[in-house]
Amino acid sequence: MSSVTNHLPTAELQALDAAHHMHPFTTNSELADKGARIITRAKGVYLTDSEGNEILDAMAGLWCVNLGYGREEMGKVAARQMNELPYYNTFFQTTHVPGIALAKELADLAPGDLNHVFFAGSGSEANDTNLRMVRTYWAQKGKPEKSHVISRKNAYHGSSVGSGSLGGMTPMHEQGGMPIPGIHHIAQPDWWSEGGNQTPEAFGLACARALEDKILELGADKVAAFIGEPVQGAGGVIVPPESYWPEIQRICEKHDVLIIADEVICGFGRTGNWFGSQTMGIKPHIMTIAKGLSSGYAPIGGSIVCDEVAEVIGNCEFNHGYTYSGHPVCAAVALENLRIMQEENLLDHVRNVAAPALKEALDGLAEHPLVGGVNVSGMMASLPLTPHKASRAAFAADKGTVGYICREHCFAHNLVMRHVGDRMIISPPLVITPEEIAIFAERARAALDATYADLKAQDML
Ligand code: PMP
Repeated sequence: MSSVTNHLPTAELQALDAAHHMHPFTTNSELADKGARIITRAKGVYLTDSEGNEILDAMAGLWCVNLGYGREEMGKVAARQMNELPYYNTFFQTTHVPGIALAKELADLAPGDLNHVFFAGSGSEANDTNLRMVRTYWAQKGKPEKSHVISRKNAYHGSSVGSGSLGGMTPMHEQGGMPIPGIHHIAQPDWWSEGGNQTPEAFGLACARALEDKILELGADKVAAFIGEPVQGAGGVIVPPESYWPEIQRICEKHDVLIIADEVICGFGRTGNWFGSQTMGIKPHIMTIAKGLSSGYAPIGGSIVCDEVAEVIGNCEFNHGYTYSGHPVCAAVALENLRIMQEENLLDHVRNVAAPALKEALDGLAEHPLVGGVNVSGMMASLPLTPHKASRAAFAADKGTVGYICREHCFAHNLVMRHVGDRMIISPPLVITPEEIAIFAERARAALDATYADLKAQDML
């Protein structure tokens, strides 16, 4: 029986954590010196740490706790399913009711003819599935050479070798032999950082046309698919110009290239619709899902696949799957999440209450001297920090230095706001109320003021 419990002093827990626990995306030696913050419980939009601080979580964990923390119904459903059927696989001609029910529910919620679901344990796994599925699709159609996949620079599609290769994060590619062959990265539609003097519309079109250039360079008969998030999340909440996605759609249709919409963050209400593809007017052949599917209460992801691709894949043995594909407990928890979202009209709350209140709060924060503007789609947003609003200039300090300072001030003000480079990122639980958004804005403003004072004192402006 473990002696490590909530009752140990913070310093002791931190020492044990440093001794034994390797953290993702972390320089563990630095964290060991500093000591990790220990989150002990959570309710609604608030986390509690081992020192008793109440922290407003404006990131919904990792963009996933859409329902908010501490919903007892979710725990009850998990316990019931654990007692009834804790596990069975869906490999060898077997299935189970939670898997059937969740697949049916997702087919009902997804737009168009996206009627089939291949389950995974996470977004990374689901994107690995997608990579193999689109290549297998074209091979089955007699075009095995139509296997290249085009993605964007600075995209995030997961951390496994396949999904990390689909992503366009250079620091990830520098470790462990990524990207694997056959994956290409074009410019991202980040007008704020890269648009220069172009209008957003012209810049959006130019970024989309980079896809056509790449397809023509490789040969359309070599390109299986294009993958993109409707709104890039981990890249810095990059809301593309309106001209971008219609042009991408046109180009993919013209060259017979499948579209994979990575909905891991955008899905399940984050942008105000069930899927970001609906918000952005995309007609994908496959959607990647995870995170908000279960509001992060259980690890589950998957691919929602259109009729045509599912039919072709269905005519061969697709030699792919995970022990936990469609895990019954995770599937039951995801179903309960979707049930609650519908019963409580969460999408209406997002559209009519939370997103307008968040937009108003962000517009207020944009008046701060450090904030260069607002990128927002529904309940995902970023505030780019800049020393000079009119030119959207970058700071002289290394990219991310100012963002990190601001994030530390957020923590000191009991607010979780993440930074990507020098952008502050916001993605709160969808259930957040206008009163809680006002508290978010108050803490964010205090953190921005403290950051500004630091930069002035250190002559960094
Ligand atoms: N795709 C996107 C767009 C994501 O944001 C993430 C996770 N941040 C993933 C895929 C990978 O999901 P997971 O961490 O569940 O593997």
